[in-house]
Amino acid sequence: MEIMPLLYVPTIYVLMLSVMVLLGGLTFFAWLQNRAVRALAWWGGAVLVMAAALGLLCLRGVIPDVYSVDLAYVVLFTACALMLEGARCFEGRRASPVVLLAGAVTWIAACQVPALYESATARMIIVSAAMGLYSLGCAYVLWTGRAEPLLSRWPLIVLTALGGGLFLVRIPLAVMHPLAAAPVTSFDALQSFWFAIVSTFTLLFVIAINYLFLALTKERSELMHKRASMTDALTGLANRRAFLDFAAQRLKAPANETVAFLLFDLDLFKSINDSHGHAMGDRVLRLFAQTLSANLPKGSFAGRLGGEEFAAIVSGPDRQAVIAAAEHVRESFATAARVVDGIPIAATVSVGLAHADSEPAGIEALCERADKALYTAKALGRNRVATAVDEHVPLVPDAPASHLVAASEHARRATKRAAA
Ligand code: GH3
Ligand code: MG
Ligand code: MG
Repeated sequence: MEIMPLLYVPTIYVLMLSVMVLLGGLTFFAWLQNRAVRALAWWGGAVLVMAAALGLLCLRGVIPDVYSVDLAYVVLFTACALMLEGARCFEGRRASPVVLLAGAVTWIAACQVPALYESATARMIIVSAAMGLYSLGCAYVLWTGRAEPLLSRWPLIVLTALGGGLFLVRIPLAVMHPLAAAPVTSFDALQSFWFAIVSTFTLLFVIAINYLFLALTKERSELMHKRASMTDALTGLANRRAFLDFAAQRLKAPANETVAFLLFDLDLFKSINDSHGHAMGDRVLRLFAQTLSANLPKGSFAGRLGGEEFAAIVSGPDRQAVIAAAEHVRESFATAARVVDGIPIAATVSVGLAHADSEPAGIEALCERADKALYTAKALGRNRVATAVDEHVPLVPDAPASHLVAASEHARRATKRAAA
């Protein structure tokens, strides 16, 4: 069987046109469902405009050249520009008139120069350069956003870079082997083996990049939802579930350092709300979250358990280092929250600390021990760090002794009070 009847160019063109209308329409529909993702509108529009360009190109010999050549390439370059704008929009960049108009304006200018317009080779070079640069532009823009962990990004970068590279390779080839100057007057004249192959691959290319772009936007939405479900909206810290999940994993991992669970509770926070309003309360919660993130040792992990309660997993070379870290957070917050937005607030925090290597182990037991220690810190007057019962750790030398207590000491004092 001959291969040409299988790859009849007009059939491929009609197929390509129908597929592009379908893909563009579906991408537009995806945008209608989620209008926040504006990149989908750019991309869907680009594919529809590309279908229009293809329609004009198909009518070569049927309609005047000014439509099937001059206008067709203006439309095609605009479609490529819209696609690049889609990628730029996806990466959070603003639309640029230069990007949008560069290809079309270059083409219109070239059409005014008879030597260029009448040379099939010159036209091929201009078209290849424009398509190549737009495609490479897409690859580059997507590459700049590579820090975001989206898997579909990589095949899309590879495909657009490869497509762009192939277009640019056509330039030296066209220079080395100039095309016949004879004008193409009928669509049948396009029928050649290589043209059929190139058209087929173009069709597959368009399907693949469109699929990958849709997958990319979907992946980002899923990632954003996943992150939102793990993040506390007010402070940006991990929420309770994400923090406890992480803490459980961290405790299972082998550690060659001391690991501790720190529980923070803002002191008399209700009175801040009552005296200065809920908005100031929120402001203080955010301030504490910032202070916590900025002052915990490297490798620590913090979260908001709810209300004005926060927690952190902190590691250090020894127990004293971990207690010093807790004390550092307490002190930093007392300083930062003395005056908030010009209003004297004097907010403070109490900290309960439980070491992970003490028995019983496990996240729940640890949390419970830290909670008891926190209760002790509150009972002893707040604005202090207390370690869990039975953790006899020497006080940190540079911390005021009044701020550091072991829960066992509180128990002893309480017993003494009861006996008195
Ligand atoms: P203590 O020192 O004993 O912990 O006293 P407290 O006033 O901090 O504790 P209490 O549990 O009585 O009050 C906690 C308050 O935190 C009550 C609640 O209205 C407030 N709160 C909880 N979540 C939020 C929030 O998201 N924003 C604001 N502004 N307030 C909150
Ligand atoms: Mg509380
Ligand atoms: Mg409190």
